[in-house]
Amino acid sequence: MQIAIDGPAGSGKTSVAQALAKELGFIHLDTGAMFRALSVILSEEGIREEDRISERLAQTDLQMIPEGVSIDGRSLIEELRTEEADREVSYYSQLKVVRDWLLDKQRTLSAEHDVIMDGRDIGTVVLPHADLKVFLVASKEVRALRRAIQSGRLDDYADILADIERRDKVDSERRLAPLKPADDAVIIDTSALNFDEVLELIRNLVEEKR
Ligand code: C5P
Repeated sequence: MQIAIDGPAGSGKTSVAQALAKELGFIHLDTGAMFRALSVILSEEGIREEDRISERLAQTDLQMIPEGVSIDGRSLIEELRTEEADREVSYYSQLKVVRDWLLDKQRTLSAEHDVIMDGRDIGTVVLPHADLKVFLVASKEVRALRRAIQSGRLDDYADILADIERRDKVDSERRLAPLKPADDAVIIDTSALNFDEVLELIRNLVEEKR
């Protein structure tokens, strides 16, 4: 079974996908973490042009690990969630060479297991035939507050909100695989719902499909 959960930054998709995968015994793939991990490595190495990125990716080993991603044997966990990573990922995630390389990995991993994958383009591009597609939305203020609480950075609320607004715009306006719900996605507004309520709603949708 394939379940796609998409939505903007801070909509809660990764936490909910993780919890549901644990309950169901499915593999969880956080595709945002994949984009973040590649961005961290490429920006550290100062590689920005598409042909150089392509050469680098041809020699790159990416593995999912608990809480993060391993690139060429190096575990990346905290590095994925820095402000710099938030900025850099917007640049790299719009490049065809990066998206194609990750698309291949995402499809290979999902062909072998029951999977819950979360991201921006899972229902539209990565798993267009997913058994269930969910698109989570919430007001930008609610999403920023959740992020601030989650990361213990309440004083940075204004900066977090600004980053969310910036990423919403870049992610939805980019040419390749923009953030948008698939035609057959179930849209859930989580602004007024707590985590357990969202989990319950999606769990019921999964049960209906099984
Ligand atoms: O989900 P998360 O906020 O960690 O994603 C980080 C960034 O990775 C997004 O802002 C987006 O630019 C990119 N991304 C993407 N497609 C996905 C998942 C993430 O472009 N499927």
